[in-house]
Amino acid sequence: MKSLSTRTAGFTDSVIRRMTRISLKYGAVNLSQGFPDFEPPKPILDRLAEVAHEDFHQYSLTWGAQNFREALAKKQSALMGIPVNPDSEVVTTCGGTEAMMAAMMTLCNPGDKVAVFSPFYENYGADAILSGAEPVYIPLNPPSYSFDPEKLEDAFRAGAKVLILCNPSNPCGKVFTLEEMTVIANLAKKYDVYVVTDEVYEHIIYAPHKMVYMAALPGMKERTIVCGSLSKTYSLTGWRLGYTIAPAEITERIKKVHDFLTVGAAAPLQEAIVTGLKFGQDYYDDLTAKYTQKRDLMCRGLDSIGLAHNVPQGAYYIMVDFKDYIKKLNLQTDLEFAELLCQKVGVGMVPGSSFFKENINDYLRIHFAKKDETLNEALNRLSEIHQKL
Ligand code: GLN
Repeated sequence: MKSLSTRTAGFTDSVIRRMTRISLKYGAVNLSQGFPDFEPPKPILDRLAEVAHEDFHQYSLTWGAQNFREALAKKQSALMGIPVNPDSEVVTTCGGTEAMMAAMMTLCNPGDKVAVFSPFYENYGADAILSGAEPVYIPLNPPSYSFDPEKLEDAFRAGAKVLILCNPSNPCGKVFTLEEMTVIANLAKKYDVYVVTDEVYEHIIYAPHKMVYMAALPGMKERTIVCGSLSKTYSLTGWRLGYTIAPAEITERIKKVHDFLTVGAAAPLQEAIVTGLKFGQDYYDDLTAKYTQKRDLMCRGLDSIGLAHNVPQGAYYIMVDFKDYIKKLNLQTDLEFAELLCQKVGVGMVPGSSFFKENINDYLRIHFAKKDETLNEALNRLSEIHQKL
């Protein structure tokens, strides 16, 4: 038999998804793969039930149903403070994952360099490989996750064509400040670099931190491709609804890439979510309040157990420092530790090394998009870590 594709030969499975399987195997509370265990908003579910009996069962327009794109453009335009044209600047995708892949395929030629902040969401590495690009990494230094603008400039000077910017960041919870965003924007303009933003956690930001949209900074709309998602904002990760927002010339190309990748996102789901896209500010305020309470519950719990961690500024992940345990148990990798934690303590987390380019094996990522009872159960189990490991 001839060999399979060279391009994909180096792929491992996603460690995030693997940890879900390992959690299931040991009956652990699964705080690895980031998805909620509470219901999406009722009005969206009610609308979904109605849609089942309406005429939304065939393909929508490949780049997204008119109704969906109009509602999305209106919402995002108000949020971002820039006009968004629903016809020429928006493509509806199958989740933020497809949005990122379509953006990369649209921008990159084989051999192009793509700059990525490390730690990074693991899909970006695979996206780079699939689009033929070569990732170059700029460290976000724990525990504050700050970066050195010199290192970013080095990457741009070395010819990076694209920067992937996850803001708020998965896994480290960093929310880039206006000053940091301005530094990045100025360098992107100076070196003619495109910025692909992953903004799927845009509504999960903790006071006093604020969302700054790269596309809204002076001179940046024309070189920014926004990748967004409805998954986290409306707690429906299984619906696989995402989008890109980009200038018309770029969007024209994304539409074609997207058409050949997936034809389109699910038509009934696009229609049902329009209800959510029209929610008032109250909904988003409640979402922020809910996640703030969960973040605080988790941080306080970890503190009382004596586990060191960062305090996220946005998104719903915490990096917990387990280096003393890893050292004490004489383990080579945090991967082994994550499995042991599932088995002996009963809590599933993602090994930090799957996010870092650097050889860092000190952290595990825990997420808190779960009911309080689930979080309390995880904390209860973790409180016995000193005896069990
Ligand atoms: N974004 C989520 C995480 O980082 C879920 C990833 C996924 O499995 N699509 O855990």
